[in-house]
This record gives sequence, structure tokens and C-alpha cells, in this order.
Amino acid sequence: GAAASSQAKDPPPQNCKTADGVAITLRANIDHPAELEGLLPQLFGGIGLLRTEYLFPTLGQLADEVRQEEIYRQALTWARGKPVTIRLFDFGADKPLPDSEVDLTSYLGLRGIRLLLARPDLLRTQARALMRAAPAGQLRVLIPMVTSPAEVEQTAAIFAAEAAGLAERQIEHAIPPLGIMVEVPAAALMPEAFQRAAFFSFGTNDLAQYIGASARDSAAVSGLHEASRVATLRFLHHTVPLALATQKPVGICGDLAADTLALPELLACGFREFSMPPARMPLVRETISGLNADGSKARG
Ligand code: PEP
Ligand code: MG
Repeated sequence: GAAASSQAKDPPPQNCKTADGVAITLRANIDHPAELEGLLPQLFGGIGLLRTEYLFPTLGQLADEVRQEEIYRQALTWARGKPVTIRLFDFGADKPLPDSEVDLTSYLGLRGIRLLLARPDLLRTQARALMRAAPAGQLRVLIPMVTSPAEVEQTAAIFAAEAAGLAERQIEHAIPPLGIMVEVPAAALMPEAFQRAAFFSFGTNDLAQYIGASARDSAAVSGLHEASRVATLRFLHHTVPLALATQKPVGICGDLAADTLALPELLACGFREFSMPPARMPLVRETISGLNADGSKARG
């Protein structure tokens, strides 16, 4: 199918090497397109996570299809042919949907793709805007909060239906590869079940809160975050090899990717693609340059 398009299989642009010469890709996490203005695309292996929640800042303010397409195209143009990974709206929990009449603040309830499948109006508009922008570069689309393969299949079906509508209206478009955020333990434990996913991106911010059963924004349980972090690293040692065994691209875009103390372990888990806030990139690159691919410290 279209999700297995050649785009996701091209070797990633490498902009970093371990001390023993293994190529590493460092990408940018972008929360707002204005951040791209001061950034040099040649320093980055593209965008590993473009969050899109800012497109719906307040009640009744969702950017329409034309405005969304313009913003997605801007990011693709900035990257000059390198991969740009745009995440579908990740509303709910810590990113509540401004126009909702029901309570969406639960971390275990309707959020991410669960919410989008319950609000297909939002998903369909975003899918059309993404596919209209796609010919401008190498777009990859990331699905947030995936738990079951059926969610990916339903998302792919919506993209296919909207693509057919665009084709009928003779509007130029392309269907991008669909990858998944690995931020729910269930998905991390069974990556081979996600046959429709073109790539995997580990989201350790949510993964850690689900592993530690402690909300990421609750000061009352912040004392448990260190235990959650340690357990999450252990969890990654078990699950990253399962994702790599599928032969699909595997990356990490949670805050842990920019944590210099965690980098030796993340390399040892098998990660070779990291995405982080752009300002963290120089230090991450320097740290990885001093480590071997197995995470050991380089001598000399
Ligand atoms: C994550 O959960 O690790 C992640 C990258 O996404 P967000 O922080 O936007 O939930
Ligand atoms: Mg997340």
C-alpha cells in the first residue's frame, strides 16, 4: 500500500557519528513554525516531530485546510528534501481541545488518535491539508497515542478516502507514509502487529508516565519521576530491539533523546535516529561523538 512508499525506506540523512564511526541522524522537534526562521536546515536531518496543536489555540480557531496546507508546505520547503515528520493533532489530556463539550483531561481516556477517530471532522481536514502539501518535500505523518493496529488502519482508510476526493477534484496531492508514536506500553510491546505503520517514533514523555503510573504534569507525584525514568530505560532495552526487528525506521522524539546522561543507554538500546528541541542538538552531537555505538565511552 501507499504507507510502504519508498520515502520511508530511503536511508536517513546522517549528521552525526559515534566515536567508532556509526552514522546517527539528529532531527529537530518543532512546536511552532516560527521556530524554523532562525534554523539552518543543513544542520539537521530534517524534522523528527512537528507538533500541530498550536493550529487550534482557542475556541473556534482551528486553522482551515488552506491555512494548514500553507504551514505544512512551509516546513517541507524549509527542510529542502529531508524528511519532515508532522504529527496529527495530539489533543486531549495535557493538550485539551478548545471546542470540546466533554471532559478530555484524562491521560487514559480520549486523546491523540482516539480523539481524532471520535472527531473525524478534524482528522479529515488535517489529512487533506497534509496530502495537498506533500508534493513539496518528503513528508512523513506521525499518529499520536496509538494503542491498537486497528487505529492505524482506520487512519489510513481516512487518508485514502480523502485522497480519492482530492483526485476527483483534480487537486494535486500525495499520500505520505504513516508512522506511529510509540508512547503507550501496549504498542511498544508488539510493534510487529502494526503492519500498516511505516515507521516508529518512541515518545518517552508519555511512555514514562504510563510505566510509572504518575501523570507527567502532576507536582504531587513528581517524586516518582526518577523511578519512572529508570524503569523506562529498562523497558526500552526490551522493546527497541522488537521495533528494529521489523526493519522499519525507528527513532526517539521524547525529552529523553536530549538527556545527555541517558544517551549511552539509548545508543545501547539500538536507537540511531534522535529528535530533540533544536537548541539541544549541538550538545547531543558532541556527547554522541564521544561515545561508541554500544554506549561505552570512547577512549582517548
Ligand atoms: C512524548 O510523549 O514523548 C512526545 C514526544 O510527545 P508529547 O510530549 O507531545 O506528548
Ligand atoms: Mg506524547
